[in-house]
Amino acid sequence: MDIRIPFNRATFVGRELEYVGQAVAAGHISGDGAYTRRCHELLRDLTGARDALLTTSCTHALEMAALLLELGPGDEVIVPSFSFVSCANPFVLRGARPVFADVREDTLNVDHTQLPSLITSRTRAVLVLHYAGVAAEMDAILETCGAAGVDVVEDNAHGFLGTYRGRPLGSFGRFASLSFHETKNLTCGEGGALLLNRDDDVARAEVLREKGTDRSRFFRGLVDRYRWVDVGSSYLPSDMLAAILFAQLEQRDAVQARRRELWDRYRDGLATWAASSGVGLPHVPPECEHPAHLFYLVMPTGASRDRLLESLRQAGILAVFHYLPLHLSPMGARFGGREGQCPVTERVSERLLRLPLYHAMTPGEQDEVIQRVVAFAP
Ligand SMILES: *Cc1c(COP(=O)(O)O)cnc(C)c1O
Repeated sequence: MDIRIPFNRATFVGRELEYVGQAVAAGHISGDGAYTRRCHELLRDLTGARDALLTTSCTHALEMAALLLELGPGDEVIVPSFSFVSCANPFVLRGARPVFADVREDTLNVDHTQLPSLITSRTRAVLVLHYAGVAAEMDAILETCGAAGVDVVEDNAHGFLGTYRGRPLGSFGRFASLSFHETKNLTCGEGGALLLNRDDDVARAEVLREKGTDRSRFFRGLVDRYRWVDVGSSYLPSDMLAAILFAQLEQRDAVQARRRELWDRYRDGLATWAASSGVGLPHVPPECEHPAHLFYLVMPTGASRDRLLESLRQAGILAVFHYLPLHLSPMGARFGGREGQCPVTERVSERLLRLPLYHAMTPGEQDEVIQRVVAFAP
């Protein structure tokens, strides 16, 4: 069956190629050119972060966070099992051990009430993912982590431009990551950013991102040559990608308004059916403003989820599942993951389904998805 309504189409807002052309004409297509600087400035303004650095991906931003935390063997990082591999791999790469936490039934964010029993003398950080861009319970998380001397890292791949009690997501943790992958609200194909919220991380982050050299200081005329001064790698995206991203960041209000409209139409169009069919819809606590990153259904059973996926597929509509529990993956098992360890994650993972949601989605396409869904008896 041909897919007529895809799960995602990359967002395109109009000036991307014009700006890429300008980057090429300016003769600076490697990292940290004019467009990268514009993105940094705008990201700082939008998130309130102390500093923002574009990276080649959200995964790489989290790898930088793991380097800056100076993690090593013997260290533990608490990670919600209902999350993406990139929430654990950056820490595992440093030799640290992921400790899996379960999520709350309502928001599917890390269950903060479990943190006190999971934190040990080896815990160095808690990775918080704002699932679907709906904030995790940050007041309680920051309080628990602060008291234990444990750092918070926000994976804000879903939550860019969302807020918690009026404050931008990405400004709560010592570090936060953003993703500009094709599947995210704003994109440059592949890309991300590291947000830094502590002054003393800023200078070192620049060095790690520039292969462990003080090249950023060199470009600012602060040193007369650049040298190898620390560990590091190459995490800078080309300025051509920054040009694409800047075009999208400029149009963020239009992109967000469109997504919000689509998200609300799903909620309004599916509410009655969901209530009468025992289907769960996204829960947004009043203190959270979310950026309409994704719309999901939690079906009554795993079997009904699979049947709905298949029935939509037969109609040419691609819906997808989300997040196989990390603790039950082959790698998770190597870190002691076992069945029953995170029961909410296990239950939700087999019942959750995400509906198509993209900038260019037409009302006709969305109506078709809604009609197909409400015609389905779980
Ligand atoms: C997309 C995503 C990532 C990975 O982003 P990349 O930019 O592809 O590395 C990480 N975490 C979450 C929660 C994501 O949704």
